[in-house]
Amino acid sequence: MSDPIDLHDHSFSDKETDLDKQLRPLSFSDFKGQKQIVENLKVFVQAAKMRGEALDHVLLHGPPGLGKTTLSSILSNELGVGLKLTSGPVLDKPGDLAGLLTNLEERDVLFIDEIHRLSPIVEEYLYSAMEDYKIDIMIDKGPSARSIQLELNPFTLVGATTRSGLLTSPLRARFGIKAHFEYYDLDILTGIVKRSAQILDVEINHESAVEIASRSRGTPRIVNALLRRVRDFAQVKGNGKIDIEITRFSLEALHIDKHGLDEMDNKILTTIIDKFKGGPVGITTIGTAVGEDSGTIEEVYEPFLIKEGFIKRTPRGREVTELAYKHLGRVKYGDSPSLF
Ligand code: ADP
Repeated sequence: MSDPIDLHDHSFSDKETDLDKQLRPLSFSDFKGQKQIVENLKVFVQAAKMRGEALDHVLLHGPPGLGKTTLSSILSNELGVGLKLTSGPVLDKPGDLAGLLTNLEERDVLFIDEIHRLSPIVEEYLYSAMEDYKIDIMIDKGPSARSIQLELNPFTLVGATTRSGLLTSPLRARFGIKAHFEYYDLDILTGIVKRSAQILDVEINHESAVEIASRSRGTPRIVNALLRRVRDFAQVKGNGKIDIEITRFSLEALHIDKHGLDEMDNKILTTIIDKFKGGPVGITTIGTAVGEDSGTIEEVYEPFLIKEGFIKRTPRGREVTELAYKHLGRVKYGDSPSLF
C-alpha cells in the first residue's frame, strides 16, 4: 500500500507491486525472524480462536519495510477472518472511519498504517470503537442534527507506525498487544533472499544470497527489491543464474552501499563528521542540519546506524565511530572535544 514517508519503497510499478504480493509470506511459518513477536502472537491468536473472540488490538511499531503490513495480513489469515487495509492520512473524516468500521464482519482485522498520522477527531472516534465496539455518528445538519450510536461487530485493530513517539497516550493505551520490530540479521535476510528467489524461479547460490542480504539495511523490502534488480542483470548481462560475479556487478552498477546504508544514512554521518567534527552533537541539531525531522532520525534512521556501529549515543549527544570514518574514507579530527 502507498506509504508517503516510506523511504525504502522500491516498488515503482504495478508489476512490481504484484511481485511484492507474490513474495509476501502468508502464514506464521513463512514469516522469518521477529521470533519473539511471532511466538507471542501465535499464542494470542490460538487463545482468541479457542474463545471465539476477536483478537485484542495490536500495535506494531518499527522502521519501514520490516514486515508490519505482512504480519497484519498473516494475522487475518491465521485467524481465518477478513482484512481491510487503510492508512492514517487517508482517513481524514470521521465518516471515512465510520464507513470502514460498519462494514467489518465479525472478528475482522482492520489494518491502519501510519496510525500516528490520524487526525485528532478521527482518533477520538476510534476510542469507543476500540473499547466498546460502538461508534457515535452525527446525522443531519443544523437544528435537526443528532447523534446516533451504532453497534459494531467485534474486530481487531492492527495499527502500524514508524514513529511510535508521535502516538498519543490514550490511543497507545487502547492496544492490548504491542510489538516492536527489529532490523533483521544476516542469516534471516539470506533465508528471505533464497525464499524469494525460489518464488521468482531464479537460481541463486549461497554466496550471492549473503551478498544481497548484507547490502539491504537489515530490511526485507530492500532485500526483495535488490534481488529483483540483480535478477534483471543476470537475465540481460549473464546467463539467467545469479552468481557472485553478476551480483557484485549489479550492486556496483546500482551504486548500492557496501553496508547497505541509504542516502540519508550517509548524509547523517557526513554531516556529523563535516559540520560537527564527528560529534558529540544533539539529535535536534543533526535534524536541522540534514533537513529531516529529528524524531524521524531518532526512530527511523538512527537505530540502524547504532546497530551497525556507525554512531554511538553519549550523554552529550551522538558521535560517529571509527567505522563511519572508514566507511566514508574520511580522516578523523583531533581528539579535542567539539565546541558544539
Ligand atoms: P512494513 O509494513 O513494515 O513497511 P511490509 O510488510 O510491507 O513492511 O514488508 C515489505 C516486504 O518485505 C513484503 O512485501 C514482504 O515480501 C517482505 N517481508 C517483510 N517481512 C518479511 C519476513 N519476515 N519474511 C519474509 N519476507 C518479509
